[in-house]
Amino acid sequence: TQEYHVVIAGGGAAGIAMAASLRHRDAGLRIAVIEPNETHVYQPGQTLVGRGVMTLAQLKRPTRSLLPKGVDWIQASISAFEPDARQVRLDDGRAVLYEQLVVALGLKLNIDAIEGLGETLGKNGVTSNYVTELSGYTWEQVQLMNSGKAIFTQPPMPIKCAGAPQKALYLSCDFWKKHARLNNIDVEFHNAGPGMFGVADFVPVLESYIKRYGARAQFGSNLVRVDGPKRKAWFAQSDGTEREVSFDFLHVTPPQCAPDVVRDSPLANEAGWLEVDPTTLQHVRYPNVFALGDVASTPNAKTAAAVRKQVPVAALNLLAVREGQALEAGYDGYGACPLTVEAGKVVLAEFGYGGKLQPSFPLNPSKPRGLYWWMKTTLFPWVYWNLMLKGREWWLKTRASGQS
Ligand code: FAD
Repeated sequence: TQEYHVVIAGGGAAGIAMAASLRHRDAGLRIAVIEPNETHVYQPGQTLVGRGVMTLAQLKRPTRSLLPKGVDWIQASISAFEPDARQVRLDDGRAVLYEQLVVALGLKLNIDAIEGLGETLGKNGVTSNYVTELSGYTWEQVQLMNSGKAIFTQPPMPIKCAGAPQKALYLSCDFWKKHARLNNIDVEFHNAGPGMFGVADFVPVLESYIKRYGARAQFGSNLVRVDGPKRKAWFAQSDGTEREVSFDFLHVTPPQCAPDVVRDSPLANEAGWLEVDPTTLQHVRYPNVFALGDVASTPNAKTAAAVRKQVPVAALNLLAVREGQALEAGYDGYGACPLTVEAGKVVLAEFGYGGKLQPSFPLNPSKPRGLYWWMKTTLFPWVYWNLMLKGREWWLKTRASGQS
């Protein structure tokens, strides 16, 4: 059995950034990251791969190359959390002991929740930018589509990057419009929710793009079943009825939930998410446990942008617990969703808890801009690899709230 000061569960965006941040703050900490995958993926780029703006290869880097020096990598999957024994159990039966635990396992794409989806994803014109390896298939199918019916779906919340289902729609329509095909393509957006976006300020501009592309938005319409070979999809309607729709192209955003290993653990809340205080990111029952990223119960937009702001808060509070001090760092719910309304323009939706707007720039936040497209395609990936995953936080506004 190995024992560490800090064990970080998951080496995705939040896990790697947290390891780097802790390492910078205290080089004496013995830290392990538990992550099964050899390859790390910059998921926000998957939307761009679906439009041929980036390649999948550009989104991938070896996990080993991202782990900070001096941090142990345990290449395994966690099969159980045993917080009363201060340990996690690995899939090979080993236990890893910790003084403090950071849970950063992300979320689960619940593909099995939709009948027939697993069998047909990646075939029969059925795709999803949410599935890393299929974002290239989206681009292939978008280019092949000349006429017929294209459907884009959005499941009930919460999902990661809530704007991504409609980003796929806008970028596909933009391509079809530029190639004079859009008049022959019937586009429907089936959204299980009640409106285009959870923050009212961004709704009018998104509705104007739906109109510009001649798409139809159906609210309260939730995908429940797909027959790929017959190219048919069924949607549960909010009035209790079911609607059958034929398609030529189907972009699915699968329903999303907490990973089973978290849901089945004493660390979960009723909905299965890792139950932390939304401000301090400390577990509500186990003070030596913190969580951040998509797995956390915090009601923010589940984005890499949120992770960027959560990391220094979780790191400072974790170190405060070690030193028996009060937790002073606080997360305000910041998240950002760069809505790619057309190739070359982005509406940068930045907001915190309760939908409070938190624009980083003194510009009208609901206006599509070329500058934000440049940020989405060039600046944000650079920031992710070179600042966020490296634990370089000097440029973050969170310093203003009394943090180092
Ligand atoms: P992840 O990065 O998913 O990492 C979780 C890690 O845990 C993975 O490496 C996984 O292998 C590991 N893991 C899982 N189970 C186990 C286990 N049992 N044991 C050990 N390890 C395990 N964010 C933005 O900010 N802007 C965007 O424009 C944007 N667009 C997006 C578009 C798409 C299509 C998608 C899919 C996501 C997008 N996001 C965007 C969201 C962003 O990618 C996530 O919010 C972010 O990656 C969350 O980080 P995380 O570390 O919580 O989860």
